[in-house]
Amino acid sequence: MGEVKEVIVVGGGIGGLAAATGIAKLGKKVTLLEQAPKFGEVGAGLQVGPNGLRALDTLGVLDEVYKLAVFPRRHVFMDALSGKELSAVQFGDSFSDRFGYPYIVIHRSDLHSVLLKACQSLDNISFLTNHKLEFIEEFADYVELRCENGEVLQAETVIGADGIRSKTRALLSLANPVVSQYVAYRFTVPMSEMTINIDWDEKLTWIGPGIHLVQYPVRHKSVINQVAVFKSYKFNENTEDWGTAEELIQMFGDSCSTIKESLKLAENGLVTKLFDIEPLEKWSSERVTLLGDSAHAMLQYLAQGACQALEDAVCLTEKMRTNGSNVAKALDEYQQERIPRTAEVQRGARTWGDIKHAEDSVTRLLRDTIMLNRSADDYKYLDWLYKERTLSTV
Ligand SMILES: Cc1cc2nc3c(=O)[nH]c(=O)nc-3n(C[C@H](O)[C@H](O)[C@H](O)COP(=O)(O)OP(=O)(O)OC[C@H]3O[C@@H](n4cnc5c(N)ncnc54)[C@H](O)[C@@H]3O)c2cc1C
Repeated sequence: MGEVKEVIVVGGGIGGLAAATGIAKLGKKVTLLEQAPKFGEVGAGLQVGPNGLRALDTLGVLDEVYKLAVFPRRHVFMDALSGKELSAVQFGDSFSDRFGYPYIVIHRSDLHSVLLKACQSLDNISFLTNHKLEFIEEFADYVELRCENGEVLQAETVIGADGIRSKTRALLSLANPVVSQYVAYRFTVPMSEMTINIDWDEKLTWIGPGIHLVQYPVRHKSVINQVAVFKSYKFNENTEDWGTAEELIQMFGDSCSTIKESLKLAENGLVTKLFDIEPLEKWSSERVTLLGDSAHAMLQYLAQGACQALEDAVCLTEKMRTNGSNVAKALDEYQQERIPRTAEVQRGARTWGDIKHAEDSVTRLLRDTIMLNRSADDYKYLDWLYKERTLSTV
């Protein structure tokens, strides 16, 4: 048997990099395994709420993140059909006072590169790209990882941060991604080419029956990130030819003129069919655990997938710190802490998606009445997501 590595983190996305940073800072030797030829991110924009920023602060990278972030003044919910404002969340001092941190939007690659630099600055992290995990097996004293390139690695502890189609998860659960009928078209437009008249100090979410569009600036407001989401009525689980650009145009057919103008470049976007997984009952064995989308892939409607991965990384680091050499106990305490929290967010994201996309007129009337009557600094609906949570001592 070759060298047994101390910790292998599978997957160099936001979750894997955050976990590697936290664990390496405990003094452990970490190997970061990534299938791609180089580390990177797909897509453009990412919203990070106070809970994600709190985790980035704990990891010691918040100042670097703030240098690259845009701080919107409000999150405004608009009616996609009438073009009228329905509700807003004010991101001023009262928001930051309540949650301890503001709300930012940032280019995904920018956040990823801050975390990658943090990893690269630590001597005890080594990097293996072009290593796609194919199969993982756990033995009494070590874990074996077989890669597509033929290499076989061994580790004392493995963190599976390998995304929604995780190979690590296969060791712990039979869960598979659950398809939603929804599709996202993600596209960016240089600010200089935007032809609609909008206040770009704000983040906008336009909602309508079976559709929504999110718009916000990134990169010092030089680029507008846009995500158009719709329900595909051509969905068929046996084929891939659903969620087409024709359907996009059709689904947004009744929307207001600002949206139609915004969608002119959507067809060139990155098309993502939207999946989540059911909350898992188990994330950890004696030596292996899951983190981020591999553990709790969720629909993006609460903008929490990456934020929860960051919370995972902080919690796992803390549990490894307090349990010292008893890694099995650390992994167990971590899953006990994180499974209920992330399951609530996974379920909440599905529900919020149903509310946003409501198609029947009664539900829409009730939703709109509630939205129109809440004030922009009424944050009580957000406490469960953003307020500081104390880690339990199990
Ligand atoms: C349209 C959309 C909008 C979103 N918006 C937000 C938002 O605003 N805010 C937010 O918090 N979240 C958002 N999310 C969710 C967020 O993108 C994800 O939850 C987050 O990126 C998950 O990070 P991760 O590191 O767990 O997984 P991933 O980003 O999937 O990273 C997994 C990594 O593992 C690697 N990998 C995979 N398999 C293997 C293997 N077998 N061997 C080796 N390496 C492997 C991959 O190449 C990748 O680098 C959004 C998602 C979507 C689809």
